[in-house]
Amino acid sequence: MKPPIEPNKEDCCNSGCNPCIFEVFEKQLQLYKKCKENDEILMTEENGISQLEYSSFFISDIVELTENLRILKFKKLRTDSNTKIFWNAGDHFLLKYNDGNMSCSRAYTPIKLKKSYLDDFDFLIVVKKYSEGLVSQYLFTLEKGNETLWRGPYGHYNVLENKFKRIIMIAQGTGIAPFIYIIDQILNDEDNMTKLVLFFCCKSLNEILFRNELYEFKSYWNFQYHIYLSDRWNDNKNKVMYSEPIIERKLRADDLVEIKPCNSDQFLVCGSQQFMRDFDHILKKELCVENIVNKILEKIVTI
Ligand SMILES: Cc1cc2nc3c(=O)[nH]c(=O)nc-3n(C[C@H](O)[C@H](O)[C@H](O)COP(=O)(O)OP(=O)(O)OC[C@H]3O[C@@H](n4cnc5c(N)ncnc54)[C@H](O)[C@@H]3O)c2cc1C
Repeated sequence: MKPPIEPNKEDCCNSGCNPCIFEVFEKQLQLYKKCKENDEILMTEENGISQLEYSSFFISDIVELTENLRILKFKKLRTDSNTKIFWNAGDHFLLKYNDGNMSCSRAYTPIKLKKSYLDDFDFLIVVKKYSEGLVSQYLFTLEKGNETLWRGPYGHYNVLENKFKRIIMIAQGTGIAPFIYIIDQILNDEDNMTKLVLFFCCKSLNEILFRNELYEFKSYWNFQYHIYLSDRWNDNKNKVMYSEPIIERKLRADDLVEIKPCNSDQFLVCGSQQFMRDFDHILKKELCVENIVNKILEKIVTI
């Protein structure tokens, strides 16, 4: 392991990034010192994205989903190295925003599913545009070829092989982002026998993210899902695929009771703060389950 390079004062944008570049440096320095003391050589494959310095990625493709949702694909400017970009399921990257007057960063969840492994991009993000949102608005102005700055990966969720009988995921909107990657990893690991159940809450039919991918995952013996739409979709009934599990109402506590939750299950919840609070309450107080991870996206989940 090489000693980490200390960031300069101006590398910190003073906007309360989580984690701050100096915290990352401290952690890496402690790890380096520990390895040195014990004469250990920490073999880490070099990652094409760094936790300490921003790297340039250009936009290689944009997929417009709705007026307020888009997928952006990123590819590294490979001037110096040709290394792979890697991260764990549930991790996030930080995007740097700088308009000349102010600088800050925001977290986004990188995704690259196995089926697009060979496609010509490093990672994609799904972005939701907020009416007063500084960085999400900026992401909607970007075009193919534009450069952006990223650092990461950060996160603390571990996919533990066969530790739980079932992993039950409850997602709202773009909260599906970390889960789609976790599902993809587990289903593509033949030794992982964990059953996966996804409850996905969306507004309308055209806001169902990764709709085709979820439908394809349905053919795996250990995956089942249910999509709950809060808006009416009667007029679009012909647009539903064969036995696509879409339910025209909001998800309720009794839907979760039906799957008979128990303490060998792990629950993952990701959505707006209100959504997380509501389901945290339902899971703890009404269903009395224990293994709840609702901090998969670390401190704040504002998606
Ligand atoms: C670990 C992590 C991973 C994330 N991954 C993703 C991702 O994959 N895709 C994604 O789109 N976002 C993701 N987010 C959220 C993202 O980091 C930003 O918070 C989001 O894009 C809004 O930033 P902004 O600068 O546009 O809004 P800000 O300028 O920070 O907010 C301005 C105003 O916008 C409104 N607003 C902002 N966020 C919300 C919200 N969630 N609900 C309601 N109103 C809001 C509020 O009125 C707020 O006052 C993630 C966040 C975390 C912590």
